[in-house]
Amino acid sequence: MSDVQKTAVVTGGARGIGRAICLALAAKGINIVTCYSKSSAAAEEVIAECEKLGVKGLCVKADVSVAEDVTALIEAAKAEFGRVDILVNNAGITRDNLIMGISEEDFDSVIATNLKGAFLATKAVSRLMIKQRGGRIINISSVVGVSGNAGQANYSASKAGLLGLTKSVAKELGGRGVTVNAIAPGFIETDMTDALSDDVKSAMLSGIPMKRLGKPEDVANLVAFLASDEAAYITGQVICVDGGMAV
Ligand code: NAD
Repeated sequence: MSDVQKTAVVTGGARGIGRAICLALAAKGINIVTCYSKSSAAAEEVIAECEKLGVKGLCVKADVSVAEDVTALIEAAKAEFGRVDILVNNAGITRDNLIMGISEEDFDSVIATNLKGAFLATKAVSRLMIKQRGGRIINISSVVGVSGNAGQANYSASKAGLLGLTKSVAKELGGRGVTVNAIAPGFIETDMTDALSDDVKSAMLSGIPMKRLGKPEDVANLVAFLASDEAAYITGQVICVDGGMAV
């Protein structure tokens, strides 16, 4: 894989952790394809920033929970760059509530975006990666997928489901040179966590041995490593980037 111009598809790259992942991979000379589900402006800005780093980029309208959109996203990446070497399943949503308050709709939408979205994209790239005899699939899970969290049963279930998807597909594709790993971020400063109350934030901070929240770049740096040739013998793993929160 080392002497070809690599291409990465990063879902939900318009902001937060996804944006940092796009920039970290672009800084390594990797072409970037990202998608947005509603407004294109922020995603296009990220692609423009990646292009300033000397790579090519592509921005596609695709809702990861819709099979046709995901197929079209991977097809667009293939049509533009001829290959997909790295898939980062990053797009995710929360619809937090205590179990008795979670509506069926809020359960279904979280599972559809966070878990089914990753399944659809993984399925869409796997044939391509097998043909290319290599690839990297990186799923952005969460520490709450490892340990659970009161008020996030739907989100935790989706993120725990991602761990099963990761390990199973790692076993299926390992012999084809494709690695599949999951990253479990802790409490990372993004728009998603900005929405939490100050009380919730300080309670979480007290449980973090590093005594600080994480930055999107803390997660993106690990994605860049797992996507590299140096990480070729690491597969089926769940790696926490959480300042020690889940220890
Ligand atoms: P964010 O809300 O800032 O960004 C999520 C991105 O996903 C947005 O660009 C959004 O438009 C996109 N997206 C949402 N639904 C989509 C869909 N159906 N189709 C396409 N794109 C869609 O969130 P973030 O904090 O950057 O989180 C990124 C990932 O990291 C998520 O999977 C999240 O669950 C996970 N995570 C975040 C934290 C944290 O503390 N921020 C912790 C653990 C895991």
